[in-house]
Amino acid sequence: MHNCYKCKTELTDKNWGHGNKIGGIKTNNVNVRYICKPCDNEKSRLYRLKNKKDYGYVYLVSNPAWKGWVKLGKCDSNYKNRLSSYNTSTPKRDFEFRYLLKCKKPRELESLVWKKIEKIAESFNSEWFKVDLQVTIGIMESMKEDK
Ligand SMILES: [Zn+2]
Repeated sequence: MHNCYKCKTELTDKNWGHGNKIGGIKTNNVNVRYICKPCDNEKSRLYRLKNKKDYGYVYLVSNPAWKGWVKLGKCDSNYKNRLSSYNTSTPKRDFEFRYLLKCKKPRELESLVWKKIEKIAESFNSEWFKVDLQVTIGIMESMKEDK
């Protein structure tokens, strides 16, 4: 029987699964380190924390199916993930970013942008705005934090 290399707890079917192995796979299990599930979860949590960026984006996204409309949104630093999540909702995978505004506080900035483009929008529907794209981009550019 093995023990967790971090907390030394004896590993059982309850606190260990085959995924909780580190290294050694290519070396015929020599030098494999085993880790219990709680330690593994904690390790992933710390890893995510360490890799969390202190910035995000406010963006405009559009889809050719809705000409003249853009959607305003915000996301964390991983904007590529956000785009692919839009694209999983359409078979054509044709959502694209029209503008990405990098910022420290996406939530706050999004609501400021929102108020401004609401005023110039011909029409809007939840997060979608019918606006002049260039004018909207101009507004967002003027709101850059690090001008
Ligand atoms: Zn452990």
